[in-house]
Amino acid sequence: RYMAGWATKIEGSTHEHSVPFALQAQMVAYTRREPVGVVAAVVPWNFPLLVAIWKLGPALAAGCTVVLKPAEQTPLTALMLAELTQEAGFPPGVFNVVTGDGPGTGAPLVSHPLVNKVSFTGSTEVGKLIGHACVDHMTRFTLELGGKSPVIVLDDCDPATAAAGAANAIFFNHGQVCCAGSRLYVQKKMFDRVVADVADHARQLTLGHGLDPAAQMGPLVSQEQMDRVCGYIDIGRSQGAEVLAGGGRAGERGYFVQPTVLASVRPEHRVVREEIFGPVLVAMPYDDLDEVAAWANDSPFGLGASIWSNNLSQVHRLIPKLQAGSVWVNCHSMLDPGMPFGGYKQSGIGRDMGRAALDAYLETKSVFINV
Ligand code: NAP
Ligand code: MG
Repeated sequence: RYMAGWATKIEGSTHEHSVPFALQAQMVAYTRREPVGVVAAVVPWNFPLLVAIWKLGPALAAGCTVVLKPAEQTPLTALMLAELTQEAGFPPGVFNVVTGDGPGTGAPLVSHPLVNKVSFTGSTEVGKLIGHACVDHMTRFTLELGGKSPVIVLDDCDPATAAAGAANAIFFNHGQVCCAGSRLYVQKKMFDRVVADVADHARQLTLGHGLDPAAQMGPLVSQEQMDRVCGYIDIGRSQGAEVLAGGGRAGERGYFVQPTVLASVRPEHRVVREEIFGPVLVAMPYDDLDEVAAWANDSPFGLGASIWSNNLSQVHRLIPKLQAGSVWVNCHSMLDPGMPFGGYKQSGIGRDMGRAALDAYLETKSVFINV
C-alpha cells in the first residue's frame, strides 16, 4: 500500500539554468524520472514472501517489470504470489518467477544483458559475486547483505526489560534474521544480572513444530544451516567461550538448535566477528560509551544496532557514533514500509523500503530544450 501511493507521485523538477548568456540561447531545462526497466530480484529463504514484496512493490510503482528468483529452499510463496498477480489481472510478463538454485538460475539471471537492475538480498559473499557480475553490463544493483548487529545496554535501564529485549532481538525467527541482535554489550556493573536473565529466557523458550501454536521457536531451515550453526557453537567453545545456555542441537529429529548464550568471548573470536544466522548470542561487558561504540563498530558489517536506555542524552550521544543502517532505541528489528532499511559497510549498498527504495528503480533524465 505504501509503495502503491508512490506510483502517482513520481516527479522531476524544472530548473532555472546557468547556460552562458553568450550562447544567446533561451533554454527550458527539466528532469524526468523513468523506470529503470527489467528488474531481477534474488531473495533468500529466511523471510521469503516479505523480502520478495520489498522488491516487487517499489519496482511496480516505478513502472518496472520483475523476474523473481526465490531461494531453492523456499519457492512456494513466490509461486503463489505469481498466481495471485495473475488473478488480480497483471498484464502477462510484468511479474515472473524463475525457480532453481544460485549457480544454475540466479547467476545467469543477474548477468543477463537484458536485465537493467538487480535487487539482491542474501549473504555478503554472494552479494559481492553479484555486484561484480552486474558491473560487466553496468546493470544497476542494490545489495542487502548480512549483519552482526550489536545490542547495547546502558547502565541506567531496567535489567529485566533489557534482557527480555535482548533475548527477542536474537531469538526471533530462530536468529535467522539479517539484523538479529547477535552481539550483546552490557555495561559492566549490570553485566552479570542482564546476561543471567537472557540465559534464563533462552532456557525457557519452547521449541516445537513451526505450525504448533505453543512453540516459541521452530527448527532451522535445513540440515546444512543446523550443521553450520552447531559448528559455530563448537568453534566458540574451542576458542574459550563459556556456554551459559543451550550449546548445540536440540533432540534427534528435525533441525532444532538450542537457544544459546556464550560469554567470556573476545573481540577477535570467530563467533564475535562472523554472522552465524542462528539462535546464538555472544555477550561482552564494557566500561563507557566510547568503548562500546568502538566495539560495536569493530565489525565488517553495519546493518542494525539497538540501544537500551532511558537516558536521552546518552542515547543521542551514541546514535551518531554507530555505523549502522538502522538504530533502534528500546526496541530491535523494528521495520516500516516508509523507513529505509539497509546496511553500512559490508552489509550492503542501497536501501529497501521508503522513498530511497523507489529511487533505486528509477533513472533520471535531464532535458534541455533550446526554445
Ligand atoms: P545466499 O546464499 O546469499 O542466497 C541468497 C539468494 O541468492 C538465493 O536465492 C540463492 O540461491 C541466490 N544465489 C546464490 N548464489 C548465487 C549466484 N552466484 N548468483 C546469483 N544468485 C545466487 O543467502 P541465504 O543463505 O539464502 O540467506 C541468508 C543470508 O541472507 C544471510 O547472510 C543474511 O544476513 C542475508 N539476509 C539479508 C537481509 C537484508 O535485508 N540485509 C535479509 C535477509 C537475509 P539458492 O539459495 O537457491 O542457491
Ligand atoms: Mg542458498
